[in-house]
Amino acid sequence: MHLRAMGIAATDVLSAMERVPREIFVPAQMQDQAYEDIALPIGRGQTISQPFVVAAMTQALEIGDRDKVLEIGTGSGYQTCVLAHLCRRVYSIERHKPLLLQAEKMFHRLKLHNITAIAGDGMKGWPDQAPFDRIICTACAQGEPPPPLLDQLKTGGILVIPVATGGHQVLRRYKKEGDDTFAVKDLMPVRFVPLLPHLATASENENDDYAMPA
Ligand code: SAH
Repeated sequence: MHLRAMGIAATDVLSAMERVPREIFVPAQMQDQAYEDIALPIGRGQTISQPFVVAAMTQALEIGDRDKVLEIGTGSGYQTCVLAHLCRRVYSIERHKPLLLQAEKMFHRLKLHNITAIAGDGMKGWPDQAPFDRIICTACAQGEPPPPLLDQLKTGGILVIPVATGGHQVLRRYKKEGDDTFAVKDLMPVRFVPLLPHLATASENENDDYAMPA
């Protein structure tokens, strides 16, 4: 009801979010905050996005049930599960291997079998599985989306990605109209962790600061 009051009108998005229990994606000591409309830490310096932002990004993707969706930044896996209820298959890439393993436990627990997730650098997209109907990136790009993400979108496809310009982040929607032409629309100001190159190093992964649900 809160999301609806905030302007999320797509009933398929609202019901997909209703079906994913957010409390299992947040640290044990924060479960009482799982249904507040705020981002929460998930370890490795990363966060699970605010529910309103998950809803707004998902709604902006206009997903159809036959769609093949690429997600960059699996994180907790919460957004991945919301997508999995709306499309044919989700391909998700995360640069922190420990986060990916934890997210995969949740996909299994929720019996979502239409998700394929790997540890890797999502800035390169997923060439073997391209092209995609929809691409969502849940970490913030500097200036422009990584070119592989625009390349790996089908004509008619949609990319939703936070982009930083001049110190501000904006959520941007790219609709591919031809091989190299896009209709671009700014949706709203946002705050995301940065999109970073390469797999996370062992020392980045050591920063295991929160106890996640088993
Ligand atoms: N959708 C997630 C949000 C996680 S925060 C959720 O709701 O839980 C963004 C995630 O993007 C982080 O886990 C971060 O490690 C990851 N990330 C950043 N750069 C990346 C890259 N190049 N490839 C893959 N994942 C990346």
